[in-house]
Amino acid sequence: MTAYKESFPKSNYFSLTPLDDGVWAALSIPGTGSWSNAGIIDIGDQTLIFDAFATPTSADDLRIAAEKLTDRQATLILNSHYHLDHVNGDQIFQDVPIISTKLTREQIANQQPKLIDIFKTNNTELLDQTKAEMEQEKNPEKRQELESLLGEYSMIIRDTERFKLTLPTITFEDKITLNGAKMSAEFITYGGGHTISDAFLYLPKEQILFLADLMHIGYHADIRQGNVDHWIDILKKIKKLKIKKIVSGHGAIGTAKDIDDMINYLYTIKQIAVDWSRHGGTIENINEIQIPPKYVSYGAPSIFHYNIRSLMEKGI
Ligand SMILES: [Zn+2]
Repeated sequence: MTAYKESFPKSNYFSLTPLDDGVWAALSIPGTGSWSNAGIIDIGDQTLIFDAFATPTSADDLRIAAEKLTDRQATLILNSHYHLDHVNGDQIFQDVPIISTKLTREQIANQQPKLIDIFKTNNTELLDQTKAEMEQEKNPEKRQELESLLGEYSMIIRDTERFKLTLPTITFEDKITLNGAKMSAEFITYGGGHTISDAFLYLPKEQILFLADLMHIGYHADIRQGNVDHWIDILKKIKKLKIKKIVSGHGAIGTAKDIDDMINYLYTIKQIAVDWSRHGGTIENINEIQIPPKYVSYGAPSIFHYNIRSLMEKGI
């Protein structure tokens, strides 16, 4: 790994971790507007950026970091799924091809203008409400979650003047292989689990996966826009790949073992919802359900109850 810079470009929004020659994880610093993890991959004659954070400001730093690390401008942006925290930084890459699945592109086109509008028009209300909730919150994990959210929202709102809908320019159905002079990178989808369409990046020789939100480590994973059974099936399929390292969408860098933990998390929340319904529990009183001890220290704890609610509303 000596061919690359000894000191990494510094950012207030993320920290860089080298994973192999030419492969870096850009791990979000919570509450700074980056809001999700990204990656920089030098495949030899091309520089790929996997996901682009939640704000143009944090994506600016990502772009600069990619250029410093690989001695070339970013040549291709990959969007894993449509969620704003992964694609809102695309706006600074309007001169670079952006690639996603066909379904993800459709969702960005549908959802992104509405979300941008919310941040443009209701910004004071959104910040005041989140701040008030945070100040009243006694639970330390929930308070932390609200504090981070307040930071993410503030940074997104600060950037609204720069917002311009930026859509992927290249779409694919199942898989696209990017053949570089130094390595091959496979951008793959096994369908939708976390959302309607989730793509991930696999480096077969290096055995590195960038899984975006299909993988959360130390954070509750949001199933509301997805399908828990499909998500489990996707992870079981991914498990068959040779894996040394996994970059999660939220949280730390993991290994193949973390896939089992993620599958267990999804099974657990589904089982809790099934048991709650079976024993006469209703949507109105789901807040009485305790987060299992194993997950009590996880970040974004409000997602846990949102997940149970969502499963019950869908009839599980
Ligand atoms: Zn997501």
